[in-house]
Parts: sequence; structure tokens; C-alpha cells
Amino acid sequence: MSNGPLPKKADPRKLAERGAKITGIAEISAMPRLASYLCSEQGAVDVTLEFAVDEQHLRTVSGSAVGQVFMTCQRCLEPVAIDVKASLNLAVVLNDEQARNLPRYFDPLLVEEEDVALLPIIEDELILSLPSVPKHQDCSVKTSWGETESVHLQQEKPNPFSVLAALKNKAD
Ligand SMILES: [Zn+2]
Repeated sequence: MSNGPLPKKADPRKLAERGAKITGIAEISAMPRLASYLCSEQGAVDVTLEFAVDEQHLRTVSGSAVGQVFMTCQRCLEPVAIDVKASLNLAVVLNDEQARNLPRYFDPLLVEEEDVALLPIIEDELILSLPSVPKHQDCSVKTSWGETESVHLQQEKPNPFSVLAALKNKAD
């Protein structure tokens, strides 16, 4: 199934009454605050948003944004692909007081006009889901303080041949 772009705006109250579900693609380049943490604006995330009314008559928005972004590896300073997954669980509120009274498992979605811009909501959650120190899982660059080596030495004392074998495997 190929998705079109996520609508820029939606009326969450109306969609909640209808129990609607929206899916679509959000381009990274359309989320400048997110992009400022990345080394490339390339890519997009798949977004699913489900609107509902819960038993307390709260209008809720739950869903996820899943995709891949590129950040700068903090070891080798080359781009590293990071899988991101943000999930959201929001309830529509019209003012601060309603926001304070929400059950804890909801984040408030302050709705001041009928239509709400969807991208900033997703963008916030994606930013929170980014790793604070992005790096390649198998980054070949050693840190200047030899972190990679000390990790190996903490395991049992290897004999010289297994060290050589490990180095050889690493080079492959
Ligand atoms: Zn790296």
C-alpha cells in the first residue's frame, strides 16, 4: 500500500467523533526543528494517527511515526542511519485547566482553532525519540581514550592469537 502525504492540518474533534484513522508520509524536510538535529533532510516517516472518543468523553489521538533518519556518528563523524519510532497518545484540551486535569497517560493536545497542524505534533515526539549520542553500532573508529580496547580487555584475558583473530575479523 503506498501512502500519500500526511494532511498538513486536521480537525481532531471532528475526526474523533468519526473514529477516523489517517495514514500518510511526512517528509523530514518539512520538519525543520527535527532536521536541525540531523545531518541530512533526506527521508520521510510513515505516520499513523487514530482518532477516538474514550469512555471519559475525551477526544484522543494515538498513533506512531516510523522511519529512518541520518545523524552524525559521534565517533567517526560520518552519517549514521538511525531507525526512529515515535508513539503518541494525546487528548484534546481547550485550555490549560483541562490539560492539568488529564489522566497521566495522555499528553495534552491544545486545540485553539478547529484545525490543528499535524506535523509539529509528530515532530516533537520524533525529536524526543532521537538518541542523545548517535553512533554506528559497529563503528570502526576508536575513541581517543581507547574505549573500544578497554571493553575488550575487561572480558577474560585473551591469548595473543585470539586477539589477532578478533582484529582480523574486525577488519573484514
Ligand atoms: Zn561511526
